[in-house]
Amino acid sequence: MEDARAIAALGWISIYRSGVWKPRTRPNAFEGNGEEALRWLRRVRKETGLLTTVEVANAEHVELALKYGVDILWIGARTTVNPFSVQEIADALKGMDIPVMVKNPVNPDLNLWIGALERVNRAGITRMMAVHRGFSNYESTRFRNSPRWELPIQLMTFAPDLPVICDPSHISGKRALVGEVAQKAMDLGMHGLMIETHPDPDRAWSDAEQQVTPAQLQEILNKLQFRERTSDNAVFNNHLAQLRRIVDSIDEELIQILAKRMKVIEKIGEYKRDNNITIFQLERWNEILDTRSALGSNLDLDLDFITRIMMEVHKESIQLQTELMNRDDEKQD
Ligand code: PEP
Ligand code: MN
Repeated sequence: MEDARAIAALGWISIYRSGVWKPRTRPNAFEGNGEEALRWLRRVRKETGLLTTVEVANAEHVELALKYGVDILWIGARTTVNPFSVQEIADALKGMDIPVMVKNPVNPDLNLWIGALERVNRAGITRMMAVHRGFSNYESTRFRNSPRWELPIQLMTFAPDLPVICDPSHISGKRALVGEVAQKAMDLGMHGLMIETHPDPDRAWSDAEQQVTPAQLQEILNKLQFRERTSDNAVFNNHLAQLRRIVDSIDEELIQILAKRMKVIEKIGEYKRDNNITIFQLERWNEILDTRSALGSNLDLDLDFITRIMMEVHKESIQLQTELMNRDDEKQD
């Protein structure tokens, strides 16, 4: 109640999120207060006017959440991965008129995310929202979950009318990064934010490192820059169109150069085949990586960016040469 009152007082927040059933990675962690906590949520709604939302992972959760008048349901990342569970939830929702949010699955699989949204939609739920909470990764990075921003962007392209919100708390995993991730989400045109708060974050029973106080939330929100998607300013639009035409022609050049490179690769492939030489030579690949990285660095390009591009280009050229070798094998058969 302390958190809910503080959140409501900020004036920014319309929905109160809370886990009544918490999916935990290891057993013996705090797994939520279940049905009892639904009564507390009812009180939050009554006393603060905030709408309430909880995570549901099975049909029983849906039934109880509806019984206690929860306003919005959400399917968590660990549930979205499992079509059986999502279907069970969708079946329990048949004939109900309640908004549902679907978090991305823990693994970076866009179709699995879309599939879960479709299952819920086919149950007759039309008010839906997707939540981007990042993707599990094995290496340790700056973030708890890799944002892989391209995936929510692809989802927004696939379903332009579907609101997509961001959960910077679970992406960042630490409170100091929540603001930065939230800003990025706004800059990508996302429609809202889901942020975890606690009156005394270090004492939170789950995900303590990523929780912020309501006052810190206020600070994060005050700092956010909300940029317009488009502008009516003719001067701005003309200048932007002019810059975009330059980018168009550079992209055209880039593609022509890639095609030219592939033609030479084809010649190399045929030559290696006719002389019985392997497609891949480690020394040559190392030399390509070294020289291209050095060139890129001299031109102020990010090293990781150049490496990724060269790896893609190289993959394609290996692919083409493999096809050429196999084509020859078929002829000899
Ligand atoms: C949560 O929102 O508290 C949660 C469990 O998150 P996720 O489903 O993204 O792991
Ligand atoms: Mn959490």
